[in-house]
Amino acid sequence: MGNGKAAKLERSRGGELRASDAGKEVRLAGWVHRRRDFGALVFIDLRDRSGKVQVTFDPSAGAVEASAAGLRPETVIEVEGRVVLRSAENINPEMPTGEVEIAAHRVSVLAESDDLPLQPASSQEHAEENRLRWRFLDLRREAMQKAMRMRSEAVRRVREVLHGEGFWDIETPILTRSTPEGARDYLVPSRVHPGEFYALPQSPQLFKQLLMVAGVERYYQIARCFRDEDLRADRQPEFTQIDLEMSFVEPEDVQGVVEKVLKALAELAGWTVETPFPHLSWQEAMDRFGVDRPDLRYGLEIEDLGEVVVDSPFVVFRKAIEEGGVVRGFVVPGAAGFSRKRLDQLTERARELGAGGLIWFKNDAGRITGPAVKALGEDLSQSILEAMGCDSGELALLCASSIDVARRVLGTLRSELAAAEGLIPEGEHRFVWVTGFPLFEWDQESGRYYACHHPFTAPEPTDLDKLDGDPGAVRARAYDLVLDGVEIGGGSIRIHRPDVQRRVFAALGIDEQEAQARFGFLLEALRYGAPPHGGLALGLDRIVALLLGVESIRDVIAFPKTTSASCLLTDAPSGVDEKQLEDLGLKKR
Ligand code: ASP
Repeated sequence: MGNGKAAKLERSRGGELRASDAGKEVRLAGWVHRRRDFGALVFIDLRDRSGKVQVTFDPSAGAVEASAAGLRPETVIEVEGRVVLRSAENINPEMPTGEVEIAAHRVSVLAESDDLPLQPASSQEHAEENRLRWRFLDLRREAMQKAMRMRSEAVRRVREVLHGEGFWDIETPILTRSTPEGARDYLVPSRVHPGEFYALPQSPQLFKQLLMVAGVERYYQIARCFRDEDLRADRQPEFTQIDLEMSFVEPEDVQGVVEKVLKALAELAGWTVETPFPHLSWQEAMDRFGVDRPDLRYGLEIEDLGEVVVDSPFVVFRKAIEEGGVVRGFVVPGAAGFSRKRLDQLTERARELGAGGLIWFKNDAGRITGPAVKALGEDLSQSILEAMGCDSGELALLCASSIDVARRVLGTLRSELAAAEGLIPEGEHRFVWVTGFPLFEWDQESGRYYACHHPFTAPEPTDLDKLDGDPGAVRARAYDLVLDGVEIGGGSIRIHRPDVQRRVFAALGIDEQEAQARFGFLLEALRYGAPPHGGLALGLDRIVALLLGVESIRDVIAFPKTTSASCLLTDAPSGVDEKQLEDLGLKKR
């Protein structure tokens, strides 16, 4: 096909060619994105990872054009030609390379493509199952190339910032010991030690703490973590954390470094963010937004109406307050026109979330309506709306229930309504630190406390005396980082004293023997001069997804698994042959 005689040119990237390159001889290689035949003249959009460029095959080039005519989509070709300016009427302002084209004088096929099960060039939405099954074709699509590039760039920025701050990148084991932290471990049977298992790490938590005991002072790792959970919508069994740990620090020191990392990442997406990020206490987040990961891009803040309704004759309010519950609500701007049906749907949703019902008021140019107005009387209804700042044209939604239910119901409705009513400003992004979490959470079902973060989180020193008598009241030296209502990271100052670690284990119902069996190596390390330390882990997958504005973390992971933890491309997990099992001393039941 080619004339083979021309001196070998350096390969250029087609997507980078511009008008200023006109006249250059170039050698390009890539995939046939699209081919258009106009009788004698053939046009090809040649694609490589830099983008696309149009290649024309001039009939006067004879054989070259004839061979181009037969090229199927996704054939890999090499082209040599001259960069020429397109005539004015042929300029394509949509393409970065739209001012030029390549007049080809040689083409050779490097690899053929079969009929495609998934067309990378198609702009139509492909079914996700198909995309995951044919991931290597899906990854050729522009959106996925953009995602992979952004992810790579994000990691580079993270490394730059952290190395600049004196962090060492240290790898911790993937084959480690099972120390379940909440989720189930993935286990790997040992051949050399029949009947024994390694576990894949849920996080490098204990190793990074050991690195602090080892005197590393500043560690980070782009760490793969594994959790064998029943997967909820957008979780992956393996995911990547930007994991870091520092010695001799207070929470502000860790937060300061993390803010630098996020500022650099936000710049990648063209966002401007102010540092330091604001802080909210867990208590305030729960009270004002109903959740511990508040979205601060919009208002709809929750108000407590306990004082306003304390003497209310309305039985629903009276009962909630008498039972130690709350009356809380928020205002939805522009929603006074909601239909009866819409309000019924909201009430239904509140019931689903555990409330007995939902009480609503509309302010129609000062005229207040709603099913509870009669029972409350005009004056009290008026006072409630005034306390809530519910103006004309607005709707007030109230929940009277236990505090937990009210937070859940109002927090959920708040975010669902903001999305449904278009109240989230386009292009705005808000980071917030949430601090002051409780150290423990009581689990009604199992009748015991669980660590809200993990059992290595330090209690607030002023709460230490409550550890044994009133663990529920102990606050943690923990902090979560939230971006636009999504938790993107969490960390804490750690326990560095063995006696405190023992007391925390005890509060969690982990007795001395169990503590020794599971975490003996940590307790031991804490006896030999452990510096005060703390750290944090950021969810890389989620952050990249937010930077790109894509819904699912599967769209920023090259080879993700489905929600049922399988890989449609390789068909993992899979059975293994008897011999492998035998070597491992395992038998299928
Ligand atoms: N290891 C913790 C996690 O994976 C984060 C941290 O405390 O640094 O959630």
